[in-house]
Amino acid sequence: MATSKAEPFKLPILGGTVMNDGLDIDAQLRALDDEASRVSAPTVKATHWVDEMVNPQFTKSQRAGTTLLVSGLTAAHDYLVKAALTGLGYNVEVIETPTNDALRYGKEFGNRGQCNPTYFTVGNLVKFLTERAARDGIPAAEVVDKYVFLTAGACGPCRFGMYATEYRKALRDGGFDGFRVMLFQQKGGLQQATGEEAGLAMNPAFFLGLLKAIISGDVINGMGYRLRPFEVEAGATDRAIEKTKLWVNDALVDGGSVLAALLRGRREFAKIELDWTRPAPRVSIIGEFWAMTTEGDGNYQLQRFLEGEGAECDIQFVTNWLLFMLWEGRYDTKLRAELRGLDEARKGLKNVNIGKKLIGLFVADTAIRAAFHTFGAAIGYRGYHLPDMDQIAETANAYYNNQVRGGEGHMEVGKFILNVLHNKAHMTLSVKPFGCMPSSGVSDGVQSLITSKYPQSIFCAIETSGDGKVNVQSRVQMFLFKARLAAQKEYAELCAKLGVTTEDVRAFCAKHPALASGLRRSPHAAAGSAADRLAELAPYIGKTEREIRALRAQAFGARVVEAASALPSTLAALRGRMKERAPILFAQAREEWVDARPAVVEKLQQATTRFTKPWRSSTTAPAPSAQA
Ligand code: SF4
Repeated sequence: MATSKAEPFKLPILGGTVMNDGLDIDAQLRALDDEASRVSAPTVKATHWVDEMVNPQFTKSQRAGTTLLVSGLTAAHDYLVKAALTGLGYNVEVIETPTNDALRYGKEFGNRGQCNPTYFTVGNLVKFLTERAARDGIPAAEVVDKYVFLTAGACGPCRFGMYATEYRKALRDGGFDGFRVMLFQQKGGLQQATGEEAGLAMNPAFFLGLLKAIISGDVINGMGYRLRPFEVEAGATDRAIEKTKLWVNDALVDGGSVLAALLRGRREFAKIELDWTRPAPRVSIIGEFWAMTTEGDGNYQLQRFLEGEGAECDIQFVTNWLLFMLWEGRYDTKLRAELRGLDEARKGLKNVNIGKKLIGLFVADTAIRAAFHTFGAAIGYRGYHLPDMDQIAETANAYYNNQVRGGEGHMEVGKFILNVLHNKAHMTLSVKPFGCMPSSGVSDGVQSLITSKYPQSIFCAIETSGDGKVNVQSRVQMFLFKARLAAQKEYAELCAKLGVTTEDVRAFCAKHPALASGLRRSPHAAAGSAADRLAELAPYIGKTEREIRALRAQAFGARVVEAASALPSTLAALRGRMKERAPILFAQAREEWVDARPAVVEKLQQATTRFTKPWRSSTTAPAPSAQA
């Protein structure tokens, strides 16, 4: 309906009669506006609150007066990460392994409904800062200025993607508003300070230092879990570990050789006397990464509890987690390759050279494996097979889709099935943090299907909530009882089969300490390490030294032949994988060639011209004397 300025707008009345009693609606509204602005409060120039913690600033000039706090892995890893960063010139302090007190802080200041690792880790930081402020008698603001927390973070479907936000919330509520939590992200590098040069230099030395610390921590822990269940003198393994950690620490701090430090540690491990007649049940610990890795109240000191019950722990290394991340990169790249150009997402491959990316991931995977085995060989941790991530993924895929992410993804399912199929352990123990989305989903749903398919397996899932220690430990004991019986049966049957007794084995080991050494790993013959050693040593018992040497040479030859005969199937598997990847690589190469062809042709033409020019000029141009 058109209105004119001269003619004030009139409200229509239902029924057709137009109200025209001289009421000027516009004038009325103007009057109301004037009245409202007259009575309203004067305009205040407000300064709005900005969350400084979202983009933490840690600049190079602050480095000398700032301490980096690290925590979250095992005690050995945290200690060695500190050493690596100290060697790079940072002030570093380790926050001790989270305890139930940390959990209380986490519950006090964290959001409701978080997963258990979030409460423990977030609470541990708030607890540390609170106690530090109290110990040093300094205000919270000074603590905020003096310390920076360095931690892992990621995007993803589970709460791991929200850790940083949880830290911010709890720190603010705990009185440490503005505290800097630097995220060392799983993917995407570090969220660096902007403007001035970043306080944390993300250069090759940084990554190399971290890698050395992580792999050293892995092999040191590996030696501990391998030898402790069989040590004759309680505490001998822990003493060797402490000395080795100290030497590796010194090497990392002073820029010395980590390999030399590990070799020195190897001599300490070689001195440990072991009893290979104890059929310790081997327990493979799988589950949520933090819950199965921590050594504190977060899993009720699970590893030490199991060892106290006479079990041998088969732990998962941090290196395995790195390999899983690289596998994720490879898998996603292959899937996204078809979408290149159309895929505008953050992790899309638009303008990414897929071939280069896949080769980079392959090189990283190979380098990590090579470093692990080199460090392992130096310390004496031999015979460990790092997981084949493709095999785990293929094994699990029928039950747990490889594209479902969060937590350990399909790995728990794959590892459990492979444990059963390859008789890797007597029992699989899966650690589920209370409130964990992916891990609990796997355990409660898929693993029950797997146990029904493999009824011979002994599978125990436990939930860690911080307050159910007695329930969890008694549940573990029940399953461990079955595993212990299985280990004893396995050992006794092998003794009977090989015609030896435990006394024979003990006497043989006493006479041949080199063959009983913890630096050797017997070939896989059974689920338990004692049974493996028994299978290896039994043929030597009752033989002369010369016969033993001959048998060992024969066994070595058999292993070589076995490895050689496995080569064709290994090559076939490799060929299969190449075939599977070839279409993507070839398509990629074709595309790259179409783009690059004009430039290559031009370069070739230029090169040909340069090459032929002097010849042409010398043959076609007239000689100066002739011109003259
Ligand atoms: S995997 Fe589970 S426990 Fe771990 S961060 Fe994610 S939700 Fe939490």
